[in-house]
Amino acid sequence: MTDAIETPGLDRGAPARPPLIDPFARAITYLRVSVTDRCDFRCVYCMSENMAFLPKADLLSLEELDRVCSAFVARGVRKLRLTGGEPLVRRGIMALFSSLSRHLDSGALDELTLTTNGSQLARYAAELKACGVKRVNVSIDTLDADKFRAITRWGDLGKVLSGVDAAQAAGLAIKINAVALKGVNDDEIPTLMEWAHGRGMDLTLIEVMPLGDVGEGRLDQYLPLSLVRARLSERYTLHDIDDRTGGPARYVRVAETGGRLGFITPLTHNFCESCNRVRLTCTGTLYMCLGQEDAADLRTPLRASEADDLLHTAIDEAVRRKPRGHDFVIDRRHNRPALPRHMSVTGG
Ligand code: SAM
Ligand code: SF4
Repeated sequence: MTDAIETPGLDRGAPARPPLIDPFARAITYLRVSVTDRCDFRCVYCMSENMAFLPKADLLSLEELDRVCSAFVARGVRKLRLTGGEPLVRRGIMALFSSLSRHLDSGALDELTLTTNGSQLARYAAELKACGVKRVNVSIDTLDADKFRAITRWGDLGKVLSGVDAAQAAGLAIKINAVALKGVNDDEIPTLMEWAHGRGMDLTLIEVMPLGDVGEGRLDQYLPLSLVRARLSERYTLHDIDDRTGGPARYVRVAETGGRLGFITPLTHNFCESCNRVRLTCTGTLYMCLGQEDAADLRTPLRASEADDLLHTAIDEAVRRKPRGHDFVIDRRHNRPALPRHMSVTGG
């Protein structure tokens, strides 16, 4: 059983507030929330082995996370994704899923979902389903247990695969995310795709993004998906499909497997014109773009008052600053990250 989250005053007849529209006329309908910067894995492209994590006192409480998410829902956000770090290692996280599910019940929210490394999925799959979660993204870069351990440093593939089994048994749809890594999993991509599609799961490939210092050269890891796609095309028939999500994924249908394959290519493709999302960190910092440093502090207005007026003002000001697009580059002279923060801060 999960403890209930108190949401005092949150849903009392608040005045209707205008939807969030940015200066480029894009409606903000998708909020991704990193609920913790901590993780039980240390993936080589995401974290260094000795990560310094935030003091727990800096984190938004589950009640505060609920309040911010609900404020965004009141402003027209239709999709919430909890991520991290690893969202399922945050203590009491099921209480947050459970309380946010009221927005699904009311019809204010279309989708409540998460991105997970799958390590705790066997334990939580049924509860997630009961909270109205319909689909989950599970990150698996390889089906080779030794390689999996090498990539994640601490991960156990068997546990993750049990999580996938449990999620499917609970009736959750699954999308597998795999980061394409040069010389690591490039020749395994067809195997991963056949496995995913054979189980009725989508597969999305992700290009390594230059976020945070992970103690290894980015150029060593970077594998352009244009190359992956060209290689796949030699063996498979890929039909472009127009399943746009407002995000960086472009999809194809693979004729031979019948499954869907996505490509997330932030470094080689510009997807910003349709961007519908903003990202909240576990300390209440709002990033208007994954690839830019500009951010807004929502924790101060949140804590300054029990009413949400200051919070809404801060959200409005932030959305007015949402940039037209990002400018990721892997710095080829210095081979350093383009942005100092890790993916686990802003979520994937
Ligand atoms: N821990 C969860 C997981 O691994 O799914 C959620 C958070 S993780 C930061 C979200 C996604 O970001 C994962 O699919 C992960 O592979 C991806 N990711 C992490 N660092 C990345 C990087 N530098 N470039 C591209 N993708 C990255
Ligand atoms: Fe953890 Fe996910 Fe980052 Fe891997 S990618 S270290 S599982 S947050």
